[in-house]
Amino acid sequence: MDTIGHWVGGRVVAATSGRRAPVYDPARGVQIGEVALASAAEVGEAVKVAVAASIGWAASPSSLRAGMLFRFRELLHAHRDELAATVTREHGKVLDDARGEVARGLECVEFACGVPQLLKGAHSSEVSRGIDVHTVLQPVGVAVGITPFNFPVMVPMWMLANALACGNAFVLKPSEKDPSASLLLAELVQRAGFPDGIFNVVQGDAKAVDALLTHGEVDAVSFVGSTAVARHVYETGTAHGKRVQALGGAKNHMVVLADADLDAAADAAISAAYGSAGERCMAISVVVAVGAVADPLVDAIVARIPDVVVGPGHEPSSMMGPLITAEHRDRVRSYVEGARGEGATVVVDGTTAANGEGFFVGCSLIDGVEPGMRVYDDEIFGPVLSVVRVATFDDALAVVNANPYGNGVALFTRDGGAARRFEREVQVGMVGINVPIPVPVASHSFGGWKASLFGDTTMYGPEGIHFYTRPKVVTSRWPEPATSVIDLGFPSST
Ligand code: NAD
Repeated sequence: MDTIGHWVGGRVVAATSGRRAPVYDPARGVQIGEVALASAAEVGEAVKVAVAASIGWAASPSSLRAGMLFRFRELLHAHRDELAATVTREHGKVLDDARGEVARGLECVEFACGVPQLLKGAHSSEVSRGIDVHTVLQPVGVAVGITPFNFPVMVPMWMLANALACGNAFVLKPSEKDPSASLLLAELVQRAGFPDGIFNVVQGDAKAVDALLTHGEVDAVSFVGSTAVARHVYETGTAHGKRVQALGGAKNHMVVLADADLDAAADAAISAAYGSAGERCMAISVVVAVGAVADPLVDAIVARIPDVVVGPGHEPSSMMGPLITAEHRDRVRSYVEGARGEGATVVVDGTTAANGEGFFVGCSLIDGVEPGMRVYDDEIFGPVLSVVRVATFDDALAVVNANPYGNGVALFTRDGGAARRFEREVQVGMVGINVPIPVPVASHSFGGWKASLFGDTTMYGPEGIHFYTRPKVVTSRWPEPATSVIDLGFPSST
């Protein structure tokens, strides 16, 4: 059985800790490999290599780094099917969805290709007699990325593209549940011409994470995962003097007003709740139905559920793959089962659907859900859609704003005034108006509010550049005349 190792200093490094974890094919429910779990000493080795490489890299011209990012972009594009197949094999999501994940990651690399423009500082001339001031953006040093299982290509790319572009060395600690894509990314980074040691991968679990968070030479930590771990990462990392951005879990609502296009809303609810088997941090898990729209909307969703074909991700007919592990499947089942005891109505129970030995469940729909029920309060991270019925727009807004999470939210309506008020008053970081999964494009930034984000900076886009750089402000006065030489050559940037 293959052991998936680390990537340090430009090559695969065999594990020495003796600790390993199984890696599954969730569609068949069988173990297909094992992944190394790094010790603190192995983490230390990777950081040492990154520190050494970071010094020359920080001083490299931004145009040189941009050139490498352009090559990386081409390689990612050429290998997109291989990357997607790797994601489908270990994560289980259907191939189309995996291709979409690669494409969204690729957009972050395309954004970072503009790094010479993105790193332009500010200049003020003659702020006082003979005095000029300018701001330069310098890299932070060694940046770490700790990523979740649900986007093994896209989320690392949210981080690494801007981190490398800004002149940092990077250490990725991917999820131990689907670790192979990280090594493929590492090979492509190397083939794009990035110097060895600039991008490293340490496989591992909480032990590796804690070793990174407490390491004296790690400067910045980007984390994406569940809220409990995000809080731990933020508190531990900042207590050890690091800059930390930690994105946590979610409970995303879709508010449907009485004037909404019912078919469009039902299609959107199905796509956003059951896509990727609900294992998306931007998945819709609660429909908030306002007034008389509730009955016809529930009917329209119920009518569509049989159209969702559940099956192995590599089969073209499959629309929804399995869950990540058997434990997670059982946990999702327990929420649907528990909802009955909490007084909700299980309209469709997909959790009993079997599909071979894989970790499959079908789509579930639960009506009459209310805040305070476990099925509402917890992030389930599976294909379970709850319906909360409210009387008015204000009630709907109050439900969304009382929720401790604030990642994504959607409003379906034809009323521009209601949409405008919703946009202004909702306490959520990413808002969709007639868009169910409002993941910002790469030229904006991604991040929620409240328990969905710890730290001040969101991820990728302009906020990513801000996170991976430190501003330095220089105030200067020069005696005249300045020294000069004659050079008739064409000015070059390298
Ligand atoms: P997770 O929190 O279990 O794991 C995330 C990372 O943290 C992994 O690399 C894991 O090895 C590590 N980790 C796990 N337990 C740890 C511990 N006790 N101490 C230190 N490190 C630990 O999350 P997951 O199950 O891999 O991913 C699903 C979660 O991620 C969901 O809650 C989802 O909402 C969230 N998520 C959020 C976003 C976002 O942008 N806000 C995006 C994707 C996923």
